[in-house]
Amino acid sequence: MPMSRERSQVQFQRALKSIPGGVNSPARAFGAVGGEPLFIDRADGAYLWDLDGNKLIDFIGSWGPHILGHRHPAVLAAVEDALTRGTSFGAPTELESELAELVIDAVPSIEKVRMVSSGTEATMSAIRVARGFTGRDKIIKFAGCYHGHVDSLLVKAGSGALTLGVPSSPGVPAGCTADTISLEFNNPNKLAETFAVQGDKIAALILEPVVGNMGVVVPQPGFLAACRELCTKHGAVLIFDEVMTGFRLSLGGAQELFKITPDMTTLGKIIGGGMPVGAYGGRADIMAKVSPAGPVYQAGTLSGNPLAMACGIATLGTLRETNPYPTLAARTERLTRGLSDAASAAGIKHTLPHVGSMFTLFFNPDPVLNNTIAGHSDTKLFARYFWGMIEHGVYLPCSQFEANFVSAAHSDGDIDATIAAAKDVLRAI
Ligand SMILES: *Cc1c(COP(=O)(O)O)cnc(C)c1O
Repeated sequence: MPMSRERSQVQFQRALKSIPGGVNSPARAFGAVGGEPLFIDRADGAYLWDLDGNKLIDFIGSWGPHILGHRHPAVLAAVEDALTRGTSFGAPTELESELAELVIDAVPSIEKVRMVSSGTEATMSAIRVARGFTGRDKIIKFAGCYHGHVDSLLVKAGSGALTLGVPSSPGVPAGCTADTISLEFNNPNKLAETFAVQGDKIAALILEPVVGNMGVVVPQPGFLAACRELCTKHGAVLIFDEVMTGFRLSLGGAQELFKITPDMTTLGKIIGGGMPVGAYGGRADIMAKVSPAGPVYQAGTLSGNPLAMACGIATLGTLRETNPYPTLAARTERLTRGLSDAASAAGIKHTLPHVGSMFTLFFNPDPVLNNTIAGHSDTKLFARYFWGMIEHGVYLPCSQFEANFVSAAHSDGDIDATIAAAKDVLRAI
């Protein structure tokens, strides 16, 4: 008997009447797979329960933050303690310095850091600071990299085209993206050509050092080093957007794993442990430009919010104490091998890139190196896989082009149950 989704369906109809598309962020709607989202009642460890009481193994973790799993005791205790003191003061607290120090200790390139309330705010602010610091306007991004819904970053120009940015959303004036150059990921030659022509006008290069937002795309050997060298040579600020990879791939993020030092880093997701926190930081001379230390304005009424800081401190503190990264990588290795074997046994062409605890099963015969190749994936097959896995109690991101996350709360039993589900689903697909 198919699982009941009646209560979710009723609540989705209700939400549609008052909220655009029924959701407060488009990734939550099941548009890419057809159908309606599950409404969640509660979560614990590696599991979610929807309103109809279905228990699901969760490989989304709130789209990244829950590397420790849901309701980690140390995190809950810290938030409860902060709550007894009040929810927001609009004045400095010790908690802000504590989280800033944890970040600076963990992330090699960050000397000074500013807290904001989302990843979008972090990237938007980092771009502004990079422009203020260099006195230049142009920025380079890579097609398929997502940096939040910042006007100037909502661009995905045609592959490899050295064109002016074209906005990918109505409401973004062409003027906002006129200084955005969009290039193909993993193509250092095109990047070098672009710098050769316009290097003295380029304020910053921003990228996801391991991409999560076109599904997981791994930087090819030498690509990140080329980004670093070209920025240094042309005096542009290298910004690693580690909103997803920060504290995920290692405590120091992708920059620690790949040993490349950016000038600035943006953070989000895990840094708040499930509360709304983002941050941007980097070289002290660059961050000295940020108001009120310097002239580049950036502010936030709820920035450094005490509940959010307490949640972030407990999360990063627990990560530092427990170092779950080797175990996470081993479990992810085991899971991806199992999923890949299941797909092969079913005769399904696929590729399964993974780094640390991030992975994507692409229904794509070729190695996915960039947005164009990712676009060749079989999204219809993905939709059938997605719904099959839901029916088997496994909650995956509802799009082919997203990263899946393993958390420290997933047991070997959860991994094995997921592989068994995938065998069933892929065989029948
Ligand atoms: C999620 C994400 C963002 C945006 O963060 P929000 O908190 O959703 O605004 C930016 N960059 C990357 C790499 C992300 O994964």
